[in-house]
Amino acid sequence: MIQKEKKILVSRQYGNKQISAIGLGLCGLRTLAGHFKKDEAVAALGKALESGINYIDLGFPELCPDKALLKAYGALLNNADVSICVKANVLKLTSGEELTVQLRSCMEAYGITKVTFLQLYGVNRTAWNRIRGNGVLQKADELKETGAVENLSMHYTDDRFYLKPILQEGIFDGISIELSAIELPRNSGSLKIAGDFHLGTVVTGALKNGCILSELSLKDAICAEFFAPGVSSVLLELLTAEEVQKAVEISETSDRGKDYVRAQLAAKKARDAFYKKREIQCEVCRCCMPCPEGFNAPRIAELYNEALMFDAPEYSALQFEIENLAGKECVHCGKCQSKCPREFEIGTIATKAAELFRSQLKEVNCCDPRRV
Ligand code: SF4
Ligand code: SF4
Repeated sequence: MIQKEKKILVSRQYGNKQISAIGLGLCGLRTLAGHFKKDEAVAALGKALESGINYIDLGFPELCPDKALLKAYGALLNNADVSICVKANVLKLTSGEELTVQLRSCMEAYGITKVTFLQLYGVNRTAWNRIRGNGVLQKADELKETGAVENLSMHYTDDRFYLKPILQEGIFDGISIELSAIELPRNSGSLKIAGDFHLGTVVTGALKNGCILSELSLKDAICAEFFAPGVSSVLLELLTAEEVQKAVEISETSDRGKDYVRAQLAAKKARDAFYKKREIQCEVCRCCMPCPEGFNAPRIAELYNEALMFDAPEYSALQFEIENLAGKECVHCGKCQSKCPREFEIGTIATKAAELFRSQLKEVNCCDPRRV
């Protein structure tokens, strides 16, 4: 009998590190929504480290419901040879000093002593202009220059058209983008541009907090991104040792030819099924922007579509909070509708969505400062 060759967990270049092709996200939306058991979540990190996963993203500890969980994670991380990524949410930061405070708070919350990647989270065309003027970018660069962090990365959320000029500035060592099977055709342009600059990419949201698995197998959901050209690592929020085991097995045994092709076909079918549930067939091209009121209607409508597609408004609501989308209102001036090639009433839909997310956040109670 021919024994099938078992591959090791692949590692790929990202910044100045070789990182595992599966990364582990801690304190992501599943955790923030409370869908975890502490002992199981800590066991999941232990299993990941033991399995060779060496890229760990620390997520959003400021919103974490369980501080003891963070400390338990930190104790494991301090004894491991891993690349640690800390997010600094540029959608909320207003100065370089705030960036330093956010970095320190995250390190203290986990009790960790080193940061391999400082990730500027949520960069889009508007945020980019803002962080260049408010000192956040300069401070990030300084933190790297002084060795407080080893690498600077960026989580990018806008059209690929705006990515090239940002990367031309030569500040970043790697980028991160949302890339589930649902987003594959739309976001793979950013992947290619990062590759043109010889930058690795960590992709997030492959499982859409597990929701994508109603239409796609775990193997197809992972393989659709795992083998996409330019991907350094697929970041997954896995909350039990069993979930880690399954993901590692898939990464070790899947085949770039057969499994990637099958995953892409399955992804198209799943995308069609999910898209039928959207209220608005908006492709988030953002031709209707900017809004004079600063209301990000396309993004809010996109989150609303996701809430409907995945029947999980709590995740969209948390993302709405993380991206600081709650502070602006639509005044129904109609300017965006007149610029949209399909004349969508995006402001009205986004207003309805914003109301839903605000009421959802009260239920989740994620903004309660006692949870920080
Ligand atoms: S509403 Fe229209 S213009 Fe605006 S993002 Fe959607 S499709 Fe594009
Ligand atoms: S209708 Fe609303 S979202 Fe659209 S441009 Fe006017 S204020 Fe902005």
